Order: sequence, then C-alpha cells, then structure tokens
Amino acid sequence: MNLSTIINFRGALQDRIAAFGMSISMWFASAVAAEPLTVVSDFEGASVKGVEIDNAARRISFMPGGDPERGWPCWWYFRVNGITPGETITLRLRSSTATTAKTGGMLAKPLAPVWAMPEQATYSVDGKNWLHTEKGTKQGEEMEYSIKLDAASVSVAWGPPYTPGMAAKFVYGLVGKTRCAKAVELCRSREGRAVPMLHVQEGELPKEQRFGIWVQARQHAWESGSSWVAQGFAEWLTGDGADAAWLRQHAEIHIVPIMDIDNAATGNGGKDAQPQDHNRDWSEKPHWNEVVAAQRSVTELIKEGRMDVFLDLHNPAPGDPTFFYILDNGLLKEPMITLRDRFIQLAYGRISKIEPLIPMSNKPKTTGPAYHPLWRQISANWVSMNGNPHTVSLCLETIWNYKNSTADGYRAVGANLAAAVHEYLAERPARMGTH
Ligand SMILES: [Zn+2]
Repeated sequence: MNLSTIINFRGALQDRIAAFGMSISMWFASAVAAEPLTVVSDFEGASVKGVEIDNAARRISFMPGGDPERGWPCWWYFRVNGITPGETITLRLRSSTATTAKTGGMLAKPLAPVWAMPEQATYSVDGKNWLHTEKGTKQGEEMEYSIKLDAASVSVAWGPPYTPGMAAKFVYGLVGKTRCAKAVELCRSREGRAVPMLHVQEGELPKEQRFGIWVQARQHAWESGSSWVAQGFAEWLTGDGADAAWLRQHAEIHIVPIMDIDNAATGNGGKDAQPQDHNRDWSEKPHWNEVVAAQRSVTELIKEGRMDVFLDLHNPAPGDPTFFYILDNGLLKEPMITLRDRFIQLAYGRISKIEPLIPMSNKPKTTGPAYHPLWRQISANWVSMNGNPHTVSLCLETIWNYKNSTADGYRAVGANLAAAVHEYLAERPARMGTH
C-alpha cells in the first residue's frame, strides 16, 4: 500500500463511518419523532385552551385559557412534552373567542387578539431562565412562533411567568439572606391563598421619623412583568449599595409582588374581572381582601403623615412604551403636583438610560373622569386624593411587547425605580416625628 492508497482508504473509511453515523441518527430521529407532542397545564398559573396538535407538522395550535368572568383572557402558559431534542416545533396562537354576557362590557365581544400576542413568545426548559423566541409570524388573526431546542420538554408563555409560589420563594428567600427584611402575610385571599409581602427597614430610627413607601404589583393578574419589576425593586433595596442602605435606614418599605393572587394562581387575566378588578376596587367598601388589607395599611401611613411614595406596577397596552399614569393636575393641590413631577423626572432619568434599552416616554398619561367611570377607585388615584399633601402616588406601566421585556429587563426597571425613590427622598427634609 503506497501513501495515496492509504489516504484513499482512510477517506473511504471516514465516508463509511459518516454514513453509518448519519443512518444511526436518522433512524434515531425517526424513531423518537414518533413520540407525540403533549400539552400539560395542571400547574400553578397555567392557562391554555382549544389545544389542537398536529404531530406530523409538529405544531400545537391553542388559545389563551381563563374564565372571562375573571378577567381578559390574554394570559397563556403551558408545558409541551414529547419533543425530540434538536427538532423545531411550532406554536400557533389563536385569539380567544371567550365573551361575557354583560351587555356593553369589555368582553361583550372577544378581546382584541393583540393583547395575547407578543412579537416574541417566552420559553424556558428549566422553569428558571426565561428566554424570548424569535419573532413570530402573523397569519391573519393568528401568530406562529417557532422554537428549536435541545430538550424533551419546554414551558411556553405570554411573558416570563411570576406565580404565587415564585413570590413566596423570593420573599422568604430574602428574609433568610438579610436581617432588614421580614416576610409578612398581607392577608388571605377570597380563595384562601396567602398573599406574601416584604417589609424592609434597618436601624433604630423610630417609625414616626421614617418615610413610608408602598410598592404593589399585579392588580391585573396577566401583567406578569410587573411582578418582576417589584422583585427588581426589592433586590436593589436589600442589596449592598450605600444608597440602598440609606433608604432602608430612613424609610419603612412595603412590597407586594402579587396583589391578585387567586387569578395569578389560576391563570385568569384579572383585568375587568367581575364585579370589578383589583385596580377598580379602591372604594369605601372594597370587594377583594388584598385591596381591603392594602388600603388599611396605606390609611395608617396617611394618618401618620408619612405616605410618601405609593407605586402601583402594571404592564400597558401592546404598542405602549414604559410610562407613568398620573391624575389630572386640576384634581390635585400643591405641593403634590411639584413633588410628583420631580419624582417622575428622576425616575425617567434613570429608567430611560437602562441598557439594554427599555423605551420610556417622559410624558405621563392622565387618568381622571374621562379615562374610566370608576377613576376614583383606581389605587394610585385613591391614594392621591386621600393621601397627605406631600404624597407621591403613581402607576408605572412597563413596556411588555419589546425585545428587552424579559425578566432581567423588568428587574432593571425595578432597580432603577428604587434608586429614583432614594434620590427623591434624599432631597426631602428629614422627618422629625411630628406632622
Ligand atoms: Zn394593569
């Protein structure tokens, strides 16, 4: 055998090995591809209905689940099993056909599809790291997302899920890590679920001399991003920075990551739930236990003259950037207007500079009589109208239909919002314990 024969022989052998390997992998793929795709939705926060599986096309067609009496059916979250690692599966999202019987109500007709259709869907193979798919393709009223992964199972959702279990784990986890944080049960929900709240303060400063801060998320259950913003706020607050330490030493901070715990647990949308949703429930006699409890604590802070910053966290309409909702100036008195505008300026200065970008508008939107018939019962409005003269009370809507609207992006918004609260309160005169 001369050298070229050896090379030819080796080449031929390599070809044979490659061909053998290929036939093995093709055999393996065809054998495993026979496994049918299945959909699982028997876990906390899951929501899906109308599932149709085309195993030949490896495609799952579905609608968001949820009882329309319990809010807009725009949230979806489920797990797909039976995937052959390496294959591409397709999710075809159809819009919900659910309606309620209420004439003239929001769901007298089916909800506009865009609320349920992010440009990029969210997925996770480990239930911890949530990633965006590539952009979906619109097919009329439907949206198709493709996912290729090296796993047999994947969780897919409208956005990064944030369940009651995750809220409890986060709150109790922080308490284990830092002495300045306490876990408190805000209340039990109407369905008997515990509503976890984080209470943070540090040092010996008496209560009367502390600024009062109230942060709550998820009065609308489908807006999962708002809980991640609340978590980012809490992470910054309990972190190592000197500004965070100052805030813990000069303020008493309450953070509720999920207000509408029942709908977050059952995968219902929450918005426009019957008889009214949580953020239309801040009346003399609230219907929801979480609102009763939050309103009671906020009223205490107001009586003590230290309802300094109230923040209600949401996700907005699909085309909106991040922005604040404010009450019309005509309904407010000074110094509330000037203080609120200063806070917005500080928050905008930080959030708009987050990298990667979280687009934010420096123009707040106004609520009031023209916005909603129950405008007085919207939490941030209620706190403005019933608060102290110096109360800053705002709703922050964080963009959700954007490439950086991920768990990390939302947490960055929360961290920057907390830093803005520090910057704002550091400018305020120290509280001397009288009012
Ligand atoms: Zn909302």
